[in-house]
Amino acid sequence: MLPVGPASPPAAEITPGDRDWREDAACRGIESSVFFSPDGERGQARARREERARRICEDCPVLGRCRDHALAAGEPYGIWGGMTETDRRRHAHRLRRGEHRPLTPRHARPASAGTGDATSW
Ligand code: SF4
Repeated sequence: MLPVGPASPPAAEITPGDRDWREDAACRGIESSVFFSPDGERGQARARREERARRICEDCPVLGRCRDHALAAGEPYGIWGGMTETDRRRHAHRLRRGEHRPLTPRHARPASAGTGDATSW
């Protein structure tokens, strides 16, 4: 479970004997500050950090699993599956309105690219 506030990327949550999709994550060993916003971060600094995290996610073999987890769990903070917290809020808002838009190019890797189930967007 991620702590509130400064946190770790998903892969950092793995505990011994807990083999799961996060062990294959591209963010393993990467500083959590790439994926989670420090207090007061805004503007270009935030945009640059988020873009760096998204580039890591793009090559992640478990992107679909990570994204599905974050959406299902309602993860409130950080970059998960190439989506920012704003991306996830917008997605949830669209779903509540009955809109199912296709993924934008930066989220284009299908969930099945990892070992996850497909998500309806
Ligand atoms: S999709 Fe991104 S945040 Fe999720 S496990 Fe992969 S690298 Fe980490």
